[in-house]
Amino acid sequence: MDKTKLKSFSLSNYLKIPQVQDYLTKEQKWNIRVVGSVLPFKVNEYVVNELINWEQVPDDPIFTLTFPQKGMLKPDDFKRISNALYKGIQKEELNLLVHNIRMELNPHPAGQVAHNVPEIDGLAVSGLQHKYRETLLFFPSHGQTCHAYCTFCFRWPQFVGDHNLKFALSETNTLHRYIRHHKEITDILITGGDPMIMATQRLKSYIEPLLSVQFSHLQTIRIGTKALGYWPYRFTTDPDANELLKLFDKVVAAGKHLSIMAHFSHYRELQTPAVKEAIQRIRNTGAEIRTQSPVMRHINDDAKIWLKMWKTQVKLGCIPYYMFIARDTGAQHFFSIPLVQAQEIFKKAYQSVSGIARTVRGPSMSTDPGKIQILGTTKIRDDKVFVLRFLQGRNPEWVQQPFFARFDPAAIWFDDLKPAFGKSKFFFEEDETDLLSNFMAS
Ligand SMILES: *Cc1c(COP(=O)(O)O)cnc(C)c1O
Ligand code: SF4
Repeated sequence: MDKTKLKSFSLSNYLKIPQVQDYLTKEQKWNIRVVGSVLPFKVNEYVVNELINWEQVPDDPIFTLTFPQKGMLKPDDFKRISNALYKGIQKEELNLLVHNIRMELNPHPAGQVAHNVPEIDGLAVSGLQHKYRETLLFFPSHGQTCHAYCTFCFRWPQFVGDHNLKFALSETNTLHRYIRHHKEITDILITGGDPMIMATQRLKSYIEPLLSVQFSHLQTIRIGTKALGYWPYRFTTDPDANELLKLFDKVVAAGKHLSIMAHFSHYRELQTPAVKEAIQRIRNTGAEIRTQSPVMRHINDDAKIWLKMWKTQVKLGCIPYYMFIARDTGAQHFFSIPLVQAQEIFKKAYQSVSGIARTVRGPSMSTDPGKIQILGTTKIRDDKVFVLRFLQGRNPEWVQQPFFARFDPAAIWFDDLKPAFGKSKFFFEEDETDLLSNFMAS
């Protein structure tokens, strides 16, 4: 494998992967084609050669993380696409069928497109999202793809070519102007897709200006990335890897906190020599690495996996940050586990690590009103309840207030929960309209 050249595979050439030919049955190969027509599919040589244990396929967690599986489509949808492909229907007809199925997979959970998009001079700025007062999300237009795709990705619509579903921004100016005018912003989170897909030069053009005195209110620059998991050579042997690390040096030297928000779903992603070297090189710049992942059936729905993952991360100098719940989009039916089980997994793993790894928070649901953590279950008088709280809220006053939902062993997402004690609304729903309009006006 050539470490200096990223070679990736998708629906058009996956049959050329030697392991696909050696280890997969005819049916499995067909399933990839069917499901990959609806959900995004891309892997690369590093994932194929160094992360997936092909002896364990199809149960291998990294295989499930990156290769489409039959169960990711609902049986009816699978049958419709499979029949259509088998019959070789016209391209337009197939596209329409695929489009209709995608529209039923809730492509924009938590109102991502309609809400939270800020304005400058009354014009909506499409590559920014400003939902939580302190933190601005920035989606650079060239960072809206990844080195490989996760089969559970909630950003899947932007990878499958539905261009009107994308939200991206090309103007560096707009970004900088927005931050200059919003002194309440202390954090920018550059995200995607994966911003680390961009050339260092481009990343520099966004980041370097932020180091000047006009942006002294900006304290933290975060970069959300899966590159450590899917292409650690981005930080080691890529042609502009050294230049990238120099940029990190510069950010730190300017007195900003630089945090790489690294997405790892399984400890195996932390075991290769390449990822260890990449982590070391990033840490040497003075940047921190914080880690996050959703908890997913078939991939990491086991406390032992999280325990080992957090321990390995801490050993390598990373800071565990978030455990998320599978969002209500795409193949959620395949990946989701009951909230109660997610909390059990979190609790068990958390109980077995030292305080150094207890920086992690979760399990958390990213909902329209905010990030809601499941603290646990308990009984209050005769009512069994979930204890919840906001880790992050559209209204900052909601944060850290415990609240209760009726216990439901089957609930997999916040929408499944009802307020406890026979109430009709959660506390933040009662005053939502008033508070929201105040917040937006402020
Ligand atoms: C998670 C998230 C952030 C960052 O929140 P922190 O609690 O500061 O990590 C910012 N914006 C959005 C929309 C988010 O979902
Ligand atoms: S790396 Fe992140 S954005 Fe990219 S496919 Fe995976 S979950 Fe989605």
